[in-house]
Amino acid sequence: KTHVFGRIAEEAVDKARAQVAALIGASSDKEIVFTSGATESDNLAIKGAAHMLREAGKDHLITAVTEHKAVLDSHMALEREGFHVTWLPVGKDGLIDLAQLAEAITERTALVSVMAVNNEIGVGQPLEAIGKLCHDRGVWFFCDAAQAVGKIAIDVEAMHIDLCAFTAHKMYGPKGIGALYVRRKSPRVRLEPIMHG
Ligand SMILES: *Cc1c(COP(=O)(O)O)cnc(C)c1O
Repeated sequence: KTHVFGRIAEEAVDKARAQVAALIGASSDKEIVFTSGATESDNLAIKGAAHMLREAGKDHLITAVTEHKAVLDSHMALEREGFHVTWLPVGKDGLIDLAQLAEAITERTALVSVMAVNNEIGVGQPLEAIGKLCHDRGVWFFCDAAQAVGKIAIDVEAMHIDLCAFTAHKMYGPKGIGALYVRRKSPRVRLEPIMHG
């Protein structure tokens, strides 16, 4: 940081962070965490939120059966730790049922994880309605938007998204770099780290 090469590198990272924040309508670039890709972002969001909220007595998670493997396997790992998971089915159109989601939310629900656009069948879930429902019920909303960001408009404010995962190589960027959006206010989202020290 005190030498010219370090300063140039730091400026490039700051510029990238501001561009990534603007891309999804984040209110501050402090809300952007760089990761190795969407797989790491998915793991950090789901396990980080679950572990953070467990102390508050929240041991229930909701997701859909058609999520990406990184999301499904993170939930299965948490099930083995004692968390309860509701696996929402999808209809013939590939969409979750909002009434079923509303019914599944309880006092003990920590997180709802529903992707933006499906990586196999391309269907887009109704994010704004899902996010509104989550916020009305005081539950954090995580969205894996790896197939959406850079292709369709994703606005974390309008869609009430609290955590959002995406990755460079799905939008003509290099492999090995991704991001996780972590909301800082209304609500303030905090994550337990998956690596310590
Ligand atoms: C590609 C993809 C991932 C994994 O992204 P990586 O950056 O390769 O780890 C996660 N979720 C969805 C929906 C994807 O399409």
